[in-house]
Amino acid sequence: AAPIAFVGGMSRSSRHGLLVKNGTTIEKLSLAKTVAFDKTGTLTTGILQVKCIRPESDALSEDELLQLAYSLEIASNHILAKSLVKLAESKGISRLAVSDLTEETGLGLSGVINGNAYRIGRAKFANTKDEKISGTAVNISENDVFIGRILFEDKVRPESKDVIENLKGLAVSHIMMLTGDNLKTAETVADELGITEVHAQLMPSEKIEILKALPEANRPMVMVGDGINDAPALALSDVGIALGASGATVASESADVVVLRNDLSLIPESIQISRETMKVAK
Ligand code: ADP
Ligand code: MG
Repeated sequence: AAPIAFVGGMSRSSRHGLLVKNGTTIEKLSLAKTVAFDKTGTLTTGILQVKCIRPESDALSEDELLQLAYSLEIASNHILAKSLVKLAESKGISRLAVSDLTEETGLGLSGVINGNAYRIGRAKFANTKDEKISGTAVNISENDVFIGRILFEDKVRPESKDVIENLKGLAVSHIMMLTGDNLKTAETVADELGITEVHAQLMPSEKIEILKALPEANRPMVMVGDGINDAPALALSDVGIALGASGATVASESADVVVLRNDLSLIPESIQISRETMKVAK
């Protein structure tokens, strides 16, 4: 195929708000058999609102739990962290001094407050289970004892359902969801969108393993994600597409295509443009 046609495809893509970093991406996109989506911030808006604050015992108030969470999450760029910080600040909650603060991507944060060790993040990370949680949650433990959780509400993007239907119409044979969130929440979103293959509770490294294990017949594969936790999967995919409008630079750097408009419809559109470009190239 003529590289000059790729250049045409790239510039056409850019007019639609798609930054395609190199020409060979166009060819792979045109042949895509699998599209894997991250959930939070990709199929959903990622505009997370705190829905409820649930201390495990009456000895701890909602505001006290929020204060602990706030003091730790101020250090994180995760979208859950940003939502928590916003709520705590709107309530005028003060921050506690934290030492030994560390973040583990895809898991959560740990730190010491007043001599106690806290963890905030995934259920398992904070010594609890999440089978019964519906909704995205952060869980908090104190000295390895679970002390409560904060639940968030996230909405499916208005265009997501059409996007999945359009991909099916383009004969993309495998559509998957790969998420770090709990299974129940993941399945609720997947059911609503008509996605039948769901992998939940994944660490960033596990997202990679699933993509690597795809048989040749299901490739090229496209991965669509928005966050730092998706960066390794985006880098490994035949085509990594980052939703870049929110400025998730780590994801954008690892991707082959950056979506510059905050609109998931550009995913099927990019496949369509690439197919038309390949027709011209032949
Ligand atoms: P997704 O793959 O859906 O985008 P992530 O891998 O970013 O999700 O996060 C999965 C889960 O890990 C979150 O639902 C949350 O419970 C936990 N988590 C990750 N990072 C943080 C953080 N900074 N603060 C709190 N929880 C976190
Ligand atoms: Mg995400």
